[in-house]
Amino acid sequence: MELPDKLVHYDQRYPYLILIPIGREHKKVRSIGHKYERSVLSRLNDLISERALLSALPDDVMLPVPIGKDETIYPHLIRPDRMLWRDISVEDGLILDEEDVYEEDFTKLSAAALAVHVNHVLQDYQFNTMVAGYSREYWLNQIAEAFHLHPLIKLTRKKKAVIQSLERMNQSSLLAVLKYPEDVARWRDRLEYMMRPFRTVPASWLNKQQNLCNHEKHLTFDSSRRAIACHCENCHYTVEYTVDQHMISLQEEFNVMKAETRLGKLEDEFTHIINHNHDITSKLQQLAELKSWLLTDHHQLEENLHVANWIMYYQPESDVMNQYPALMVYRELKNMTLPHNQHNNALQWLSTFEIDNMAVLTQLPNWLARLPVDLAAENRADREELVQLLELVKYQRDDVVIKVKDFPLTFEKAQMVINLVETYGDHYPTHMLVHMLSGKATHKIRSLQLHEAQTFGLLSDWPEKYIPQLLNMMEDHGWLSKQRKGYTVTSLALDML
Ligand SMILES: [Zn+2]
Repeated sequence: MELPDKLVHYDQRYPYLILIPIGREHKKVRSIGHKYERSVLSRLNDLISERALLSALPDDVMLPVPIGKDETIYPHLIRPDRMLWRDISVEDGLILDEEDVYEEDFTKLSAAALAVHVNHVLQDYQFNTMVAGYSREYWLNQIAEAFHLHPLIKLTRKKKAVIQSLERMNQSSLLAVLKYPEDVARWRDRLEYMMRPFRTVPASWLNKQQNLCNHEKHLTFDSSRRAIACHCENCHYTVEYTVDQHMISLQEEFNVMKAETRLGKLEDEFTHIINHNHDITSKLQQLAELKSWLLTDHHQLEENLHVANWIMYYQPESDVMNQYPALMVYRELKNMTLPHNQHNNALQWLSTFEIDNMAVLTQLPNWLARLPVDLAAENRADREELVQLLELVKYQRDDVVIKVKDFPLTFEKAQMVINLVETYGDHYPTHMLVHMLSGKATHKIRSLQLHEAQTFGLLSDWPEKYIPQLLNMMEDHGWLSKQRKGYTVTSLALDML
């Protein structure tokens, strides 16, 4: 406890006590005059002096005793851990919360109970004086260092790749297609049980090289065991650091040797499962190779896919994809993660696959039979066909693209509405856009000279009440997007123009 010198008061009669004024703006303890107070202080002082004579205490031991205003004793001793690294100013004085003091009312304890209590408090003071000799930062560093020396943490770091592979594999959709399902189910059960030690420590603690997680920590002190507990509210995790051993106990401890052996077993058992699944692994290898091959021409494939998507936009029922196998396969595989087996480790390799549709495994033979030999040449030829096809299917000027009741909107007019929204849509509220389209030259429209716009009155032959409906339908088509004020044009609409 760092108390400003001006705040503490020593009294020759009680050499083992420090008197501390508490309460707002209580800056000084003058002499203790009351008889009752003097007797309580004497009791405390005598108790410590007896123990000091038995050499049970360090030479310079002193017990802080809180003194309230009017020189009355505050009947609870101050918890030293609550005062650690706390700045106490002479101006404000020392203001105590309920948590800042021990529960025991020391003025009411029997002689025996008081001896026990004072003993305990002195032990706390001794430990906290030692702790206070260093900064909070120092202790957090010590705790972090000891944490990373803990056998389970060291093992988790050493086996990080295996642990991650096992956890990923456990979530993998590939498990559903592996033989034999009973073996896979048993393996998963065992994994759930055996991975527990590695799951109890939060990742945010493990991932740091030398530190703990980034959150604020709460430290509590146990002087009898000379230990500091470090808690993170955010991670719901606590470790305990024993100062003399420079060691950490985790919130839950495990047999680390056993945990390591079990990791090896899980790996072996998985290898055993894979040995029955060469047909699947060879298909996965083929898929990985197929994707790499497609990626050699991915610029052209992306371009073709863009055109094909527009064809499907205009003709949702079209099976255009099916006519272009390279493009179809590319679209299926482009977002999947299909790695090559680089490590020669089945677990690590298979765990990195991300396949959202297992049907690709059954479709593979069919695909392989249909794919071209010269991918680049085929893609260029496909591109020409697709562009021609798009020209045939896309909207023509006079195509009716939307109808509100009996009022049709041609593609040409839709383009003009989109242009109008692009220019004015996010400056003006919907009702003004409606007035512009219907050609209603209100005072507001005139004052902004919007009646001179080229598109003013574009839908003057429409009943005005249908125009908001039209804007809604254009939003449903994905061309416009409603804003807090007015509308904006979507990228789909801009692409279409
Ligand atoms: Zn945390």
